[in-house]
Amino acid sequence: GNLAVRCSGCGVHLQTEDQDKPGFIPEKALDREPVICQRCFRIKNYNESSSVTVDQDEFLALLSQIGDKDALVIHIVDLFDFDGSVISGLQRFVGNNPVLLVVNKTDLLPKVTNWNKVRNWVQKQAKEQGLRTVDVLLVSAKQNQGFERLLELVSTYREDRDVYVVGGTNVGKSTLINRLIRDYSDLEQELTTSRYPGTTLDMVNIPLEDGKFIIDTPGIVYPWRFSEIVSRKDLAAIMPDKPLKPAVYQLNPGQALFFGGMARFDFVEGDRQSFTCFISTALNIHRTKLERADELYRDHLGELLTPPTREGASEMPEWTRHEFRIKRGSQSDIFISGLGWVKVNGDNGALVAVHVPKGIRVLVRPSLI
Ligand code: GDP
Repeated sequence: GNLAVRCSGCGVHLQTEDQDKPGFIPEKALDREPVICQRCFRIKNYNESSSVTVDQDEFLALLSQIGDKDALVIHIVDLFDFDGSVISGLQRFVGNNPVLLVVNKTDLLPKVTNWNKVRNWVQKQAKEQGLRTVDVLLVSAKQNQGFERLLELVSTYREDRDVYVVGGTNVGKSTLINRLIRDYSDLEQELTTSRYPGTTLDMVNIPLEDGKFIIDTPGIVYPWRFSEIVSRKDLAAIMPDKPLKPAVYQLNPGQALFFGGMARFDFVEGDRQSFTCFISTALNIHRTKLERADELYRDHLGELLTPPTREGASEMPEWTRHEFRIKRGSQSDIFISGLGWVKVNGDNGALVAVHVPKGIRVLVRPSLI
């Protein structure tokens, strides 16, 4: 359970229950000296950070401490789940500190992508979130792209300050931190100098050569992403691991598309037009008549409409319906957090609806690509 002892690395209360939560220490490591949590242990011994997670309230409490510091903030988001992984209200918490927005997983966009357009799009979306970024950087941790530039930018904007790295879970934060550790840090220096004695911050301070720190904050868990509600097995199917292959569908009003049994897209009203689906190729897209869609779902979820598997499906929340009227002449995506998006290609507008498990974030945004 919860122990009275604190980690001498980051100061967090130690616990032996949950690997994914801050302060985890395996029972048998309690005899070791110094007593440090698994996260600190891994950074210290393997130069490797791993994710720990907290919920929103805990996270906001952590964030609110950054505003009082003089620091560079790196906010890392997932390009595949941009609107699901950007921390809204971040600006309020970081105060006047500069924010460097790092957009990860560029390898998931189609090979032929106009990156200038993507950059501009990101800048605009960030602005709409009220985020004042000193720079926007597109990277792929997986393909090791953009990291040279990232290191340059960190040097430029950091001056002689600490660097806070913030982001949701699953965005690639550990991968990024690990890269920073390898290139920057001097782990000869002890990790065990928590500069905030007596406070539980759940943050790991990784010493830099100049006496400053990279501060790894826990990943915030966002409940509105598909990744949080599907089983581990189904997660592999909805998270693309290859570049997206846009799938174009010419639809008549009154037709619907199933994305496996994860979500349904209805074309309710409008002229015949094309819709482009940006979802994992591991999800089968099934076209049907709108009037048959409910029945199909009832009878074939977990078999024709899969993933989820039958068992997986029984553990997912009921679907809710979200309706959107796409204005004439607008280039829009219907975005489903963690699953992908559907681009509306027609110019004459459309009435569409999306069915997803309750709680999943669905929204309309200007087209990414
Ligand atoms: P964290 O939870 O934010 O610390 O993220 P991790 O570094 O553990 O990565 C989360 C998941 O995203 C893992 O499955 C990674 O393999 C994957 N991932 C990380 N970076 C990339 C990337 O650049 N491209 C792709 N396609 N996947 C990535």
